[in-house]
Order: sequence, then structure tokens, then C-alpha cells
Amino acid sequence: MNQHTRFNLPICLAVEDDAFFHSDEIVSRYIPDIIGQKTIIVSEQFLIDLYKEKITDISRDFGNAEIIAMNDASFDEAVSIAKKVCIEDVKVIIGIGGGRVLDTAKYAAHISKAVYICMPTSLSNDSLASPFSVLETEGSARKTIACKIPTAIIVDTDMIANAPIGQTMSGIGDTIAKHTALFDWKLSASKTSGKVDDFAYALSRMSYDSVYHCDEKNMKSRVFIRILSRALVMGGLAMEIAGSSRPCSGSEHLFAHAIEEYYKDIRISHGLAVAMGSIPACIFQGQSPDGMINFFHTYGLDFNPKSYGITEDMFADMWEKAHTVRQGRITILSGMEHDKAQLSEIYNRMVES
Ligand SMILES: [Zn+2]
Repeated sequence: MNQHTRFNLPICLAVEDDAFFHSDEIVSRYIPDIIGQKTIIVSEQFLIDLYKEKITDISRDFGNAEIIAMNDASFDEAVSIAKKVCIEDVKVIIGIGGGRVLDTAKYAAHISKAVYICMPTSLSNDSLASPFSVLETEGSARKTIACKIPTAIIVDTDMIANAPIGQTMSGIGDTIAKHTALFDWKLSASKTSGKVDDFAYALSRMSYDSVYHCDEKNMKSRVFIRILSRALVMGGLAMEIAGSSRPCSGSEHLFAHAIEEYYKDIRISHGLAVAMGSIPACIFQGQSPDGMINFFHTYGLDFNPKSYGITEDMFADMWEKAHTVRQGRITILSGMEHDKAQLSEIYNRMVES
């Protein structure tokens, strides 16, 4: 069977000003039969308090949908929401929040076979439309689990403009990381029987290009928010089409996973961790990181390891660990022996610039 018979696309992708205030109109434009179906809203308590007016409005528009504050972004939480959905004959789940909420709601919808409407409150990473959820499995250990992509994605540009700027920077980092991820994907295909899906490659490359070559430098402008939200969604769809995370995740993500798994005390967002990983990954791949460094400066992304309490020794250890966090994934790191002097030079360059 051709692998292309196996992907789904969202029915609706709306990126509009004040979209949350007329989400029911947007949804009814695309999927009219959803209106009137039993719906629940999944969010987090602090967001429910912060965006009381908008979330209450959405609930009213969807037949006084019950609003659920999830406890954590865990597998068990997703299962318990799915159980409620199945038992109470809920047909639609609306996820309103950042990556944690969206991943949990997406997975709950996947296992309960409910329609999933994704409404991000920030643009922190490309899990928006990806066919994966990152969930806590035991304690804080997290696993990336395959699932169905959203049926509808509604981005409220006012909401994103008011989100903390660090979240938007994280979304930028996750988008720029596609540069090194795509290099690693091609490299892997050249060394194995695996293939690069040209269309998924092109989508991910365009996602990267649209942000990297964007003339609008104001992260709170509507133009920039529209470009970034579509770039993140296209990254998710590239993964859906490829049937893997390869179009968006390479050695720079292995570095970020090494931090998440072995250095839990380091507080850094996913997107900034992969941005930080992209600079050394570029150098390992024999590409110049200069353009990327300039780009990060333009948008104020802080890739200095010291800002996050990462010492030179920790940095070297993170790259060692990056080799083993996802066994079987071929990247520029595969079979590579790190040269201490080179890592030290890269570290100091990142600290100084
Ligand atoms: Zn990512």
C-alpha cells in the first residue's frame, strides 16, 4: 500500500483575530454537524482563571460544554478524560491551552475517538498539529506516543499576542530546528533503506523558510503570529505525512531530550533547548551556524548555555547522552566521537555570542 493513503489532514485551520469569541461560527463553517453535539473543554485551572471570559464564551457556544481543569499532562490523565468521554457520550473535545493541555486533550480524543478541536493559548512548539502526544508515563518520565491529529485548529491571534513572549520564542526555536532535523533525515536515508518523503520534506522546509526569512521581526504583530502558527501546523502535518517525527526532529532534538531526561533541574523550554542544540548540530553537520546565530539574536532567543545553568562539563555530557536517548535514530551523532576541544570551543562561542 502507498504510505500516502494513510494520513489525515485537519478539516479546519483558522488563524484569525479574536477567533475564540466566534469559534462556534468557525467550526460550523467547516463541520456544521458538530454544533449541538455533547462537548467538553479541557484546560488548566490557571488558564481557566486567566481567560475566564473567553473560555466561558466558548463553553456557551458549544451547548454549555463542561470545563475540565486537568491535573497533569500524564497518560493516566488522558485515559481518565477519555473514560469520561466514552461513558458520558461526549462527542467533541476542545483543548484550550499550551503544549501540556493540547497533548493531553489530543490523546484523550484519540483513544475515545472523539472529534478534537485544538485551540492554543500560546505557540510554544509544533505539537499543535503533530501526530504525537508527549505524556508523563511514570512520575515525570515522559514518552512520545503516536495519536491522531486534530480535526480543527483555531488560532486566536490576540490570544497569542498576549501570551508570554518566551512561549513564542520557544515556538520559533522549534521551527528553526527543522534546518538540522532535515539534514539528519536525508543523512539517515542515505545510510539505510529508509526514504525521505519529498512532500513532507518540502512542507517542513517551507515551515522553516517562512519564519527564517520572515521580514516581520515584531513577534507580537499579527503578521508574525499568522506566519509562525501556520509554520508550526505545517511542521505537524509534515510529521503526519512522513509517518514519523523525522521532518522536525534530528540531533538537536536528541540534545533537548538528553536535557529533559538527565538534567531535570535545568529549566528551559523545549523550543529553546532545541534552538540551543541546533547550533552545535549545524557545526557537526559541516554547516555554518552564523545565519542561525544572527537569526536568534534578531528575535532575542537566548542560546547561551550559562543562562540556564549549563556548565561546560554538563554541555559535553549532554551531547554524550544525546547519542543514547533514542536508540536506532540515525543522525549526524551516530558513530561520531565527540572531540572535547571542539565541544569546548562551541560552548565558549555560544557563551560569548
Ligand atoms: Zn520539537
